[in-house]
Amino acid sequence: MRYLCTVCGRDYELSTLLWRCDCGGILDLIPVPMTLADIDSRGSGVWRYANLLPPVPPEDRLVLGEQMTPLIDRSDLGVRLKLDYLLPSGSYKDRGACVLVSRLRHLGVKEIVLDSSGNAGAAISTYCAAGSIGSRVFVPAGNSPGKLAQIAAVGARLEPVPGLRTDAAAAAMAAAADTFYASHNWHPDFIAGLASVGWEIWEQLGRRVPSSILAPCGNGGIILGLSRAFDALVRGGLIEAAPRIVAVQSEAFDSIADAMERGLQEPQPRSHGHTLAEGIACELPVRGPQVLAALRASEGLAIAVTEAQIRDAVLSLASSGVYVEPTAAVGLAGVTGLRARGLDAMLGDDPVVVLTGSGLKSGRTVADLGSPDWWPDV
Ligand SMILES: [Zn+2]
Repeated sequence: MRYLCTVCGRDYELSTLLWRCDCGGILDLIPVPMTLADIDSRGSGVWRYANLLPPVPPEDRLVLGEQMTPLIDRSDLGVRLKLDYLLPSGSYKDRGACVLVSRLRHLGVKEIVLDSSGNAGAAISTYCAAGSIGSRVFVPAGNSPGKLAQIAAVGARLEPVPGLRTDAAAAAMAAAADTFYASHNWHPDFIAGLASVGWEIWEQLGRRVPSSILAPCGNGGIILGLSRAFDALVRGGLIEAAPRIVAVQSEAFDSIADAMERGLQEPQPRSHGHTLAEGIACELPVRGPQVLAALRASEGLAIAVTEAQIRDAVLSLASSGVYVEPTAAVGLAGVTGLRARGLDAMLGDDPVVVLTGSGLKSGRTVADLGSPDWWPDV
């Protein structure tokens, strides 16, 4: 396994400490085939698939009790739900954070900076806390207080930045001049960890893939993780083809849905105001062309959903016992959106929705969702 620059084609040893190519290009990990021998049947969490990840010796692997998250059949909702909000910091980002921070620890990094809409910052600073690595996290100032409190509580230095997600990213990159920029959007080790969600789904279905997988899409890390997972399974001959991957965005930040609809190779910046789904309030994804290519390779699609559909999805899930944040609920809102457009066939007969973040992260936002006649004043 090596890093490969997507712009100039230069490759690097995995022992090289860097987050992008010297030319400024985005780095990828070279694709790998997966065999059954690569699965550590006694392992849990991302380390179950350690053979398929950038190497970390067992003594440097951070472990916070990660398990294979449940995949539950909710025929009442017409989908299976992958409960990734049950990971240690309350979001799927732990998959990437666990691998990235363990790798940085292995490479001797003592301090990092990063930017985040909230969940990645919470995940990475949580694993930094476990690994005694200092962290400084730049976040959009208006994001959920629950996420900001979580980042601060685990000991990270919190740097609220006025403006959009992209403003927080610019501030973090400027601060990275004298320390390491552990960006979950740039660093390929983070995406390598996210691939584990795809391998888990495949194992949990008895080593087969579902008809489709719907997931929220801001920068598109989970889309790229799923794509890497199924690519490895195809290369290893364990499946014939990837399931259809469906990226779900908010209408307020719909650069991927727009580019898919217009047949573009590169998304254009798009933002049209506020969304409940703060975790995907991304004007222009860092790896946009790759996200588009991943969706097309799976014969997938992208859909933008309305704020009303997001709200309904949050409340529908909550009232059936599944408490997730609005960003996480957009996957189910995507099902509603496809049905409303007469595109049910795209889901197939066995869709999976990945639920990415806990409702406990965004209590204030959820409290503000309610309808005036029955919702308590909280
Ligand atoms: Zn390069």
